[in-house]
Amino acid sequence: MNGLIDTHNRRINYLRISITDRCNLRCRYCMPKEGVSQFGHSEILSYEEILRVAALAVKRGIDKIRITGGEPLVRKDVVSLVEKLSGLTGVNDLSMTTNALLLRDFAADLHRAGLRRVNISMDSLDPQKYRQITRGGDLQKVWEGIDAARRVGISPIKINVVAIAGFNDREIEDFACLTLKDPFQVRFIEFMPIGDASEWKPEHCIPCHRIKERIERIAPLLPLTEGGNGHGGPARLFKFPGAAGEIGFISPVSEHFCQSCNRLRLTADGKVKTCLFSDELTDLKPLLRSGAGDEELGKKLDEALLSKPAHHGPIDGVMKRCHHPMVKIGG
Ligand code: SAM
Repeated sequence: MNGLIDTHNRRINYLRISITDRCNLRCRYCMPKEGVSQFGHSEILSYEEILRVAALAVKRGIDKIRITGGEPLVRKDVVSLVEKLSGLTGVNDLSMTTNALLLRDFAADLHRAGLRRVNISMDSLDPQKYRQITRGGDLQKVWEGIDAARRVGISPIKINVVAIAGFNDREIEDFACLTLKDPFQVRFIEFMPIGDASEWKPEHCIPCHRIKERIERIAPLLPLTEGGNGHGGPARLFKFPGAAGEIGFISPVSEHFCQSCNRLRLTADGKVKTCLFSDELTDLKPLLRSGAGDEELGKKLDEALLSKPAHHGPIDGVMKRCHHPMVKIGG
């Protein structure tokens, strides 16, 4: 399959599907304390609708799919969706982003259904701080989820850490050292100016080059040119000599990677979003629900694909352009 080449000569092969805007956490940088208004039951796409869009996207060259949210594990019957998505011919890589609170109970079934790897969001190694940033999350449950995933053979396990100045910057070295003994890929992600709730300010964002400098004081970082254990995405990957795991840096703020952006997002309510830093959306739901055929729906999807901008413009204007919180977009 040749894949889809957009108008800026990028190969678009990656679809991130948000299956719910509900979450069992209330991370301070992601949503307000009271939560955000949620889509009604009939507003979110059914699994059949998601599968229809996914199948059309795969026909157009998407071969990599990520399930996200909200928290994907809170949606009923998520395992059945995983099974169907993993069964789509042409999908070579199916993954999920989760906070892992429910992963202990789901890991075996997810693996059986075809999920081979996960990204787990964990912004502190200190149970109290974790509870604080997530407004109530239990870090022990995250570790139980990680252990369960390892036991059933889900690999690699990537741990996503949003580095926030004044909050978890003291833990950068501890996170990096997790990779010494365990085969995790710990990825530091710059705090992005997304969503009104994030209360983002430039001084909160720690550029990845600074994080890397600090980690290099522990031991040299060896670059992994081949993407280490694969699926590196936009992360620049390194490893400590002899370490079991890897360390990644994702720098959407200090060093955008628009020129190699290969992704599309499908929101839980059926909208295609071609750039994370833009509120432009293409709504597929009216067609999905009015009996449109695959040709018509595919055309709409193509229109969205081809409207993907070359780049997202200056980062300091993003807050003004991008009001949807990550929980609604699907991070
Ligand atoms: N509930 C799942 C989870 O916790 O991984 C999936 C959805 S969550 C919105 C996806 C990711 O977005 C998380 O890793 C979260 O840390 C990240 N995220 C949310 N707001 C962000 C921001 N302003 N900057 C960087 N990452 C952000």
